[in-house]
Amino acid sequence: MTVSIDPAVAASLRGFEVPEKLGFGSVMAPAMFRARCQDGVWSGGELVPYAPLTLDPAAKVLHYAQSCFEGMKAYRTADGIALFRPDRNARRMAYSAERLCMPAVPESLFMEGVTTVTAYCANLVPANSGESLYLRPFLIGTQPDLSVSASTSYEFYVIASPSEAYHAGNMRVWVEREDARAAVGGTGDAKVGGNYAASLQSIARLKKRGFDQSLWLNPGNRHTVDELSGMNFFAVMDGELHTPALNGAILEGVTRDSLLTLARQLGYTVHERPIDIDDLLQLVSSGTCSEAFACGTAAIVSPISVMGDGDAVYELSAAPGPVAERLRAALLDIQEGRAEDPFGWMVPVEITDLD
Ligand SMILES: *Cc1c(COP(=O)(O)O)cnc(C)c1O
Repeated sequence: MTVSIDPAVAASLRGFEVPEKLGFGSVMAPAMFRARCQDGVWSGGELVPYAPLTLDPAAKVLHYAQSCFEGMKAYRTADGIALFRPDRNARRMAYSAERLCMPAVPESLFMEGVTTVTAYCANLVPANSGESLYLRPFLIGTQPDLSVSASTSYEFYVIASPSEAYHAGNMRVWVEREDARAAVGGTGDAKVGGNYAASLQSIARLKKRGFDQSLWLNPGNRHTVDELSGMNFFAVMDGELHTPALNGAILEGVTRDSLLTLARQLGYTVHERPIDIDDLLQLVSSGTCSEAFACGTAAIVSPISVMGDGDAVYELSAAPGPVAERLRAALLDIQEGRAEDPFGWMVPVEITDLD
């Protein structure tokens, strides 16, 4: 398939100035990719100027949340621009779509979307370490019909945002013992907007108490750690790395998988296992658990300095700790092209010349 390029795209890109202060996900690139699916048949993709969508007020996505998304980044490397493990995002989006009874975006169309946006927006990829062009592919059900059934029409978009890293400093996380993010048998292992909506009340509550993020427990047993709202969880105990085993309620992060691979390569012993919250807090108190950190595409590796549980506060002795620092550096060195890429994770994108 060939992507059709709206002639207005070049002018909107040329007229765009990247603001000095980027933040995360608040500056939008002036171009976006779009494809439509009607009754299971996909149209070709188009690159068009960034603009509001036209949606029927009865569109299924607005009522029954047929919506899933991805988060990935284009990095500036020594030799140009590259994506990090985009095949993983393509496959995960197909999985999320199927969970919500939506048609999977074919991997070739997904790749066309992310590479076309990156190729045209190459000038918007920031140059500082930790900064990148954040890509947000998403799929929505657009059929105007209030009956509860899967939409017959869908739209797939890729928008992009030149961004700083999501969390810069040490995080204070709050053990959420009341709310659940996603039910057992629900959509916890799919990347869907509804999971985030369910997390917002907890975050609003903990912010009032001076914390940054909820640490979600498994919704089935309520005593093992699952993850944070948009990041996976790791702890270092006696120099070994521990992360909750995938259990159907945890979103399988590309960063999580990459850190596990890098940690093994660096010689760490790694454990994917259920982590009981009370055991964990006790190990933090005794100092056996010396570090904890969260990871995700947006956050990269974000050290956790404090865990709050009810009125108790547990301080991590070393934040940012040496293991988190080493893994963060190892990952960024590959992503930003300073180190060899022994796993073939980086996918170069050929930059489009706008003239
Ligand atoms: C996206 C996401 C992550 C992180 O996944 P990455 O692929 O590493 O960015 C973790 N948890 C949840 C709930 C997420 O939505």
